[in-house]
Amino acid sequence: MDLKSRQRSPYRSRLERLRYAFSELRADALLVAHLPNILYLTGFTGSAALLLAGRERSTLLTDSRYTLQAREEVSGARVHIAKHGLFQAAADELRKLRRGPLRLAYSPAQTTVAQKQAIDTHAGGKLRWVAADNLVERLRAVKDEDELLRMTEAAQLISRVFEETLPLLQPGVLETQIAAEIEYRMRKRGASGASFETIIASGPRSAWPHARPSPNPLMKNELVVLDQGAILRAYCSDMTRTVFLGRCPDQLKQMYAAVLKAQQAAKAAIRPGVEAGRVDKAARDVLKRHALSRYFTHSTGHGLGLEVHEIPRLGRGDSTRLETGMVVTVEPGVYVQGLGGIRIEDDVVVTPHGARDLTTASRELLEL
Ligand code: ZN
Ligand code: ZN
Repeated sequence: MDLKSRQRSPYRSRLERLRYAFSELRADALLVAHLPNILYLTGFTGSAALLLAGRERSTLLTDSRYTLQAREEVSGARVHIAKHGLFQAAADELRKLRRGPLRLAYSPAQTTVAQKQAIDTHAGGKLRWVAADNLVERLRAVKDEDELLRMTEAAQLISRVFEETLPLLQPGVLETQIAAEIEYRMRKRGASGASFETIIASGPRSAWPHARPSPNPLMKNELVVLDQGAILRAYCSDMTRTVFLGRCPDQLKQMYAAVLKAQQAAKAAIRPGVEAGRVDKAARDVLKRHALSRYFTHSTGHGLGLEVHEIPRLGRGDSTRLETGMVVTVEPGVYVQGLGGIRIEDDVVVTPHGARDLTTASRELLEL
């Protein structure tokens, strides 16, 4: 993957918007420790780095294993190869930014106490830490054109892989084999890997929303939930379909229809300015009318991008307002112990006219 040559560098403008966000907190700089945030802000894909975003300049700190890679990938920030550890380097860099006391914004959720202490020790007690969660995540939630293109491709890829896998869903085939086929096919189509461990859950285990594939064989007259996602050019997709092996009994058909209606209602509720919780409620209200809402045990969806779970969360009572360019999953499900589970999940982008599907596989109940 070459993030840099495929686009005019978006990193400068991302760092610029970030600067505005931490300046509002009267911070002199922001420490970024979470690697997906560093990737988003600089293009760096290595697995050891810190980013110090200052008002005048930003510095990516990494170690000598990444000298060449960092020079190749990073734009918008200086690269500093740390010789005595990232924390020592961060403290040195902070001293260069300002001689006196320095207000350093950081994310408590992503910075360990040990990391903070290490930087403090090296910085000689001149730091004033300013807690600020989600500064970068809020930028990441709204995707630019290039990101949307990548996400569309990642969503199309997983839709095709699912369609390709359908003929393999037969009694006797193991859940683990199906998971392996899906992950093999996504890589064959160019994905760097799965965006999470593929979920294949058949029969009674379909009622477990996060079942891992087991070495159990698929059986006739059972539901199969397939939840899969691929990472393509750094961006994730995440799609669930539920199929039935054999002729589906009416009770499950009705359940399936209710989940699909709930999903359609949630998608119809999506538009810029609407609260995330309203979208969740739209799905929940449909299931309530079908006396199924107590079997819907998770939230309706989540943001998606460089990571498979991002903000916003489409959950009960969430007051985050949706914006054009956000990408979220819409994935209502019902899980009835002893009967089975049904979930239908798509990735959608918020547009001025409402939700547009990125994942394309058929949502009709497939009886295989
Ligand atoms: Zn999923
Ligand atoms: Zn999901």
